[in-house]
Amino acid sequence: MKSIVEYVHLFLLDYIKADSHCVDFTMGNGNDTCFLAQHAKQGRVDSFDIQPQAISTTKQKLVEQQLSNVHLHLYSHEKFDEKIEGTIDVGIFNFGYLPTADKSITTCLSTSKQAVEKALAHLSIHGVLVLVLYPGHEEGAKEYAYFDDFTRQFDRHNYHVMKLEMLNKKHAPCMIAIERNR
Ligand code: SAM
Repeated sequence: MKSIVEYVHLFLLDYIKADSHCVDFTMGNGNDTCFLAQHAKQGRVDSFDIQPQAISTTKQKLVEQQLSNVHLHLYSHEKFDEKIEGTIDVGIFNFGYLPTADKSITTCLSTSKQAVEKALAHLSIHGVLVLVLYPGHEEGAKEYAYFDDFTRQFDRHNYHVMKLEMLNKKHAPCMIAIERNR
């Protein structure tokens, strides 16, 4: 089987158009950012992280892959609307911490909530927001429980919500995808 992130990328291929506006709310090592940028070549990718290391690693990958349609922001994602304008066609939150850095620097439910709610308010019609959740650590378990419950309440006329999860592996990461219908 593929990893959850590989499935997330396959899923997003249906949504990313050449001119899409994509936002990576948790840049990390830049893998999601580069993926979005490769597929939205005439569009724009905005990418956020609070760690300078994320910016330098991602910048290097973008240069290596000759991708120039990306704007990197050293800024917390719940304030993303101070940096970008317009609607979002494709958004990704890959929650948690950078495996190669300080694991105490992780996304926190209090700000994750604000960021996701704001991102939903900026989602274009037929746009998609993907949450990749890691219930295997303390803050990740809180995010998983909260967003699983929160997204189940969405009116199905306004949003389609889908969850992808391994059933026979405890605390496996999962994807919740939210597509705006109208
Ligand atoms: N998307 C990344 C990739 O492709 O490598 C992996 C993301 S990693 C699991 C989570 C990232 O979220 C970390 O780099 C962390 O610094 C970042 N992060 C934590 N809190 C944040 C916040 N408030 N705003 C933006 N990024 C944050």
